[in-house]
Amino acid sequence: MPELPEVETVRASLARDLIGKKVKSAAVTNGRVVRRHKTAKEFRMAIEGHTIKSAQRLGKNLIFGLENGTHLVVHLGMSGQLLRAKGPKDLKPKHTHVVFSFVQGGELRYVDPRTFGELYVSTPPTDPSEVEISKFARLSIGGDGLGLRREIPELAHLGIDPFEDQIGWDRFAAILRSRSTSLKVVLTDQDIIAGLGNIYADETLFASGLRYDRSAETLSTIEIRRLHRAITEILTNAIKHGGTTLDDEQFVDPDGKPGSYQQYLQVYGREGQPCLQCRLPISRVMVRQRSTFFCEKCQS
Ligand SMILES: [Zn+2]
Repeated sequence: MPELPEVETVRASLARDLIGKKVKSAAVTNGRVVRRHKTAKEFRMAIEGHTIKSAQRLGKNLIFGLENGTHLVVHLGMSGQLLRAKGPKDLKPKHTHVVFSFVQGGELRYVDPRTFGELYVSTPPTDPSEVEISKFARLSIGGDGLGLRREIPELAHLGIDPFEDQIGWDRFAAILRSRSTSLKVVLTDQDIIAGLGNIYADETLFASGLRYDRSAETLSTIEIRRLHRAITEILTNAIKHGGTTLDDEQFVDPDGKPGSYQQYLQVYGREGQPCLQCRLPISRVMVRQRSTFFCEKCQS
């Protein structure tokens, strides 16, 4: 599943050529991906004829601001891809569900084999100050995140985004100390921290020497600072490498190019292989039906 670094890779790529483009048409061939709208036509009408003014991200959501104040929100789900094409003559990949064409030329296709992803156009509320924002996100002291949540009520539930919200380690500590659940569950809960998923939660826990099943409230100040730093460093590095593309997953950027951060993974997907720190084999357990990879010796 695309996580923060993969979604950010897509955002940065699209920001380069989508801003300023006017949507000529949005052809939907699978209504499931626009399921928040009553009909595919409603989605089409909300976007056709509008110009893209900005490309932002909150957690795993891509947000394209339109000139009329509404936003096109895209969540890639498990296997969604946004792929650019020169025009209708370019071969359409299997599972293409939406095709945007632009007045200035070119196309953007939404492809999603498993169709867990979605696209919708969100209209800002009459009084954005009345939108109820996640108590975790409210700890933010700056950045674009709070404004985006007020403009897009569908995203108001999201917890803190490590990049869009400014939050120091002390506020991060307050969040962890209020949770008695395991670290893995806290890190991957989008309503607490938005953007981390299975891969980067395992990697940040390994980098900070913490076991997935430690109760969040038991962390010492030093451990919290280590985890806080690991989240920023690992996500920054993964963005630099265009995200992670694994054999069984299909993450590619809008040009169809895979990421390269998989070369730097320390624990994720490495069950039975020697730990890069201590040589002991990496363990794998199931947490809430998903694999968790860790080192018995290096993480406590
Ligand atoms: Zn180890």
